[in-house]
Amino acid sequence: MGLDWRSSNIRGGIVACTGKAFCKYAQAHTKRHALELGQYLEKRIQLDQPVNIHLTGCPHSCAQHYIGDIGLLATPVKVNGESVEGYHVFIGGGFGDNRAIGRQIYHGLSFESMMPAILGMLRAYLDHREAGETFQIFSMRHDLKTIQEIFEEEKV
Ligand code: SF4
Repeated sequence: MGLDWRSSNIRGGIVACTGKAFCKYAQAHTKRHALELGQYLEKRIQLDQPVNIHLTGCPHSCAQHYIGDIGLLATPVKVNGESVEGYHVFIGGGFGDNRAIGRQIYHGLSFESMMPAILGMLRAYLDHREAGETFQIFSMRHDLKTIQEIFEEEKV
């Protein structure tokens, strides 16, 4: 049935709103993208602690993209003159004792180009973090320009 019995620090941290399947406000198929993104990342990287990735289909933010370690807000994106589904990308959100609003790091990436960008972000986190550091603390430790440069170095 495609259900997994193992815990996963990638898929276990993914949250998606209803998306285009059932919501008239949605700009993307967030649930389908969540599954595809989880499968894509799990084939390429392993995390020793969860990184929460929140995909939300419109600014109503039912999946609370502003408080994910990585937050994705759907938006139409032009690729070769055609409109495709894509996302704005935020980093560093959190809740509870770590409450914070994510900062936007990428503007309007198509879903296809966003997947390798997120892989690069996670690789950069593993390569540059301090011992035990969460993705949120790692991303908050740098200003946006610096962390963009770190991510670009690891871009796939
Ligand atoms: S965030 Fe927007 S698209 Fe997603 S379920 Fe809520 S209202 Fe619908």
